[in-house]
Amino acid sequence: SPSILPLEVRGLSARYGVVPALRDVDLVLRSGEIVTLIGANGAGKSTLIKAICGLVRPTAGSVRLFGEEVTGLSPDRMVRKGLSVVPEGRRLFPEMTMLENMELGAFARHDAAAVKRDLDRVISLFPELKDRLGTHAGTFSGGQQQMIAVARALMSAPRVLLLDEPTIGLAPAVVDRIADIVTQIAHSGVNILLVEQNAETALAIADRAYILEGGAITAEDTAHALAASPDVQRAYLGI
Ligand code: ATP
Repeated sequence: SPSILPLEVRGLSARYGVVPALRDVDLVLRSGEIVTLIGANGAGKSTLIKAICGLVRPTAGSVRLFGEEVTGLSPDRMVRKGLSVVPEGRRLFPEMTMLENMELGAFARHDAAAVKRDLDRVISLFPELKDRLGTHAGTFSGGQQQMIAVARALMSAPRVLLLDEPTIGLAPAVVDRIADIVTQIAHSGVNILLVEQNAETALAIADRAYILEGGAITAEDTAHALAASPDVQRAYLGI
């Protein structure tokens, strides 16, 4: 049913030792949406992604995927439930080829024919890389490595995709290319949470947005409305 939320985060809190990193975070992805989470360095963006995908154990709150409570499941079980993450810093295996990195993304799948179909489909998203499948991942440019990380995440056939700062450190033309790819993935039916410091790009492609400050959500609106907000413009858009 379209009323079932692909991702529903309620009252999520997390801490590192005694230091709180997330405070009572509520966030939802509705069907077909790109949602962005904007925040400065250290706001807790990566912690939220880790708390959703099972890398950090929440101290309170819940995570639901398509209505099913999945709070605290291990990352590999989350992948099997349809949640995939493109981590900050990409975390590719540099000594493995592009193709081998992509195949790793399909580790939880057993239908070889379906995996092969997805391999072709995912490669078609990245025409600039299609002749370099046998090249070691570590030899690609930063933007290309980001594309490979996205390709690897897609190989698990996710229904919800979390992207942690996919445009950080990339040249403007490459940022635009990544933004196009994220939009294309959303149009193919994957629900997307895009975590970014680069508010300008993120708000340009997102449907809705949340602002995270000091581990708490401090604003939530359509991306269009937040981009027009003087506070957001001052703090995140350099206007
Ligand atoms: P960045 O843009 O730097 O990735 P972020 O918004 O993703 O920032 P987090 O990495 O989630 O922020 O960090 C949130 C807070 O938790 C920060 O104060 C950070 O110093 C702290 N923190 C993050 N990871 C750890 C850790 N493993 N141990 C202790 N404190 C941590």
